[in-house]
Amino acid sequence: MTARILDGTKIRDQIFTELKDEVRLLTAARVRPGLAAVLVGENPASQLYVKSKIAACEEIGLASALITPPVNVTTLDLLAVVEDLNRDNNVDGILIQLPLPPQVDTKRILEAVDPSKDVDGFHPANLGRLVSGRPGLVACTPAGCMEILRRNDIPLEGANAVVLGRSDIVGKPMALLLMHANATVTICHSKTRDLPNVVRCADIIVAAMGKPAFVQPDWIKPGAAVIDVGTNRVTDPKEAEHLFQNFPDRLEKFRAKGSALVGDVHPSAIHVAGALTPVPGGVGPMTITMLMSNTVKAARLRRASPKFSATQSTATAR
Ligand code: NAP
Repeated sequence: MTARILDGTKIRDQIFTELKDEVRLLTAARVRPGLAAVLVGENPASQLYVKSKIAACEEIGLASALITPPVNVTTLDLLAVVEDLNRDNNVDGILIQLPLPPQVDTKRILEAVDPSKDVDGFHPANLGRLVSGRPGLVACTPAGCMEILRRNDIPLEGANAVVLGRSDIVGKPMALLLMHANATVTICHSKTRDLPNVVRCADIIVAAMGKPAFVQPDWIKPGAAVIDVGTNRVTDPKEAEHLFQNFPDRLEKFRAKGSALVGDVHPSAIHVAGALTPVPGGVGPMTITMLMSNTVKAARLRRASPKFSATQSTATAR
């Protein structure tokens, strides 16, 4: 068996097309959705992430602003930046690029963001809405995993879903979304006993642990759907040879580049699973996509009249 590939790049393109139409309509009605990104200091990885988020805004027609406080900014100074953005009616989404420097109280900053502009879905008010199944802004990565499942018609109702990882930004919201979609959900973490046997019961596996190739093919029920959230960079040639022994193309790419991305699921799972997100090209492209979707949704909920409810994209409707 070779698993059906759940292509995140293809779904990103579909959602971007839907969002462009929605942004065009909103803009024609003088509501141009806007995202403000706060990037503290000069961390190259953070700079790259923010650059790709701003490029995505430009692609779908959103306004964007970049605020770049210095690396020695204080919590109070950053709170003032957030307050300004909360008050600015042209800003629909506020993105605080993490990590913040150690002198800044990250929780305090995230909790200062107006929940109606919290497009990362990190604010306790939005987490609370998710727990109680009320509409709100949902964390982008788990929301993207749900889009992958839904747009590939993976049956959720009554399915046994196992979520590996219980972080606030991936595992917990993912488990809640699956539960609200009527799956029967088991959440696993580093203290879970007999993980392989728990995973073997799953019709749907969501792996979000940050452990390269940890989930072994013989843990996977034949035909199960596997969503691999893990993004791990492998640089050790011995590890790459072992992981890619049956994937000569990937091994060749590793040798040319000196590194490769692998998920939390072993690449050979492709021969057991019924459907599988690739790494890269599965969940990765969906995170920025759902950030765009949340920004458009936030603009519509905060500023647009009810007539726009009829024109919203499927992704922002949820
Ligand atoms: P995290 O905060 O480090 O959480 C990891 C979770 O995995 C924890 O709940 C931990 O359990 C659990 N875990 C660790 N070792 C385990 C083991 N041996 N068995 C079972 N559970 C174990 O990570 P995260 O932020 O949720 O991210 C997880 C992965 O997703 C990372 O690879 C990250 O790079 C990736 N990610 C990708 C995207 C994307 O856009 N593709 C976005 C976000 C994250 P405890 O709670 O017991 O410690």
